Amino acid sequence: MTSAAARTALDLTADLPVPDLEDFYRDLHRHPELSLQEHRTAAALTRRLRASGYETTEGVGGTGVVGVLHNGDGPTVLLRADMDALPVPEQTGLSYSSETDGVMHACGHDLHVTWLAGAAAALAAGRDTWTGTLVLVGQPAEETGAGAARMIGDGLHERFPRPDVLLGQHVAPGPAGLYAHSPGLIMSASTDIDIVVHGRGGHGSRPESTVDPVVTAAYIVTRLQTVVSREIAARDSAVLTVGRIEAGTRHNIIPSEARISLNLRTQSPAVRERMIAAVRRVAAGECAAAGCPSEPEVTVGNDFPVTVNDVETDRRIAAVHGEVFGAGTILDPGPAMGSEDFSRLAAGGLPYSFWFVTGTPADVWNAAPGGDDLMARLEAVPSNHSPHFAPDLSTVAPGVRTLVSGALASLSA
Ligand code: ZN
Ligand code: ZN
Repeated sequence: MTSAAARTALDLTADLPVPDLEDFYRDLHRHPELSLQEHRTAAALTRRLRASGYETTEGVGGTGVVGVLHNGDGPTVLLRADMDALPVPEQTGLSYSSETDGVMHACGHDLHVTWLAGAAAALAAGRDTWTGTLVLVGQPAEETGAGAARMIGDGLHERFPRPDVLLGQHVAPGPAGLYAHSPGLIMSASTDIDIVVHGRGGHGSRPESTVDPVVTAAYIVTRLQTVVSREIAARDSAVLTVGRIEAGTRHNIIPSEARISLNLRTQSPAVRERMIAAVRRVAAGECAAAGCPSEPEVTVGNDFPVTVNDVETDRRIAAVHGEVFGAGTILDPGPAMGSEDFSRLAAGGLPYSFWFVTGTPADVWNAAPGGDDLMARLEAVPSNHSPHFAPDLSTVAPGVRTLVSGALASLSA
């Protein structure tokens, strides 16, 4: 027995203009824009929303786009796509590769925008099948963690109808055609930390007259490896990665400072606080041991919150996706260590569902080593942020259907 929402979704998306949506996607992929510079992308999305009958507003929180469609009494449903690209030189070899040097849609946000535009058109065309209000959001700057907060700060929920529920989706590695839902925690918090080690510079031949910050930084990086392994309980998930270490200019000069940049992934505030305290302690301890002339500077920078799906909402959306695509296509992979700023759009505790759509082309997936070991294959195929990340075009229509069916399951029939 199929629900009315699933039947209507299949109906409204039976004749999707797939070639047109693919053209739109390829155009966005050719023209990636970095965070808060998504002017062309925002304009392209706005044109599509306006053509579908939405009232559109640009420049929300910087380069954000909001499209509103009032359609009688009923719930207000917010659908969100992020729009920014990454400073990654593309190496996919695709015919529609980035035409902007050093910038690439390596996280698939071009696909998210395409899905949103496609769903906007289908839901507007089928407005006699539902009532309520749609708020469609093209969000800037997801990658830097700034975009959602900027839109909220710019009055997203005051200037536009306040949503009763929010829906968002992300393309992910995995054989194209699976829909990953976790009712509850689905993505982790992320915290950037910078450390500056102050030494005393001098000639490489006379280390006795210096305090070498390179050696001290090396000890810090090494000891930081024990934070997760020795200080965090096995039942908690956490990651600490040092992504950057920088010091010095020449072979024979001992520099006067070293810089370390690291990132934490955590799933609870308590673990996050404990790890930040450990990073401060390790940095201070190693600098004291080395005799540094001053304490290290430890700065907690950008952070992303955890993404925790509302259980009831996520189960409802997963159920309609199961009806639309078949129960075997829905899986619960549990929480990922990746992070998103989507949950900031749910400011004030609004319920939301955020899910993944797998997009690895079948030939790439089938060629990946690992046999029946799904996790081994997952590690072998290009992932988000890889210069080789290239979602399959076959996911264009399904990503529209996930949004349309999710919206219909949340609006009034
Ligand atoms: Zn990303
Ligand atoms: Zn992303």
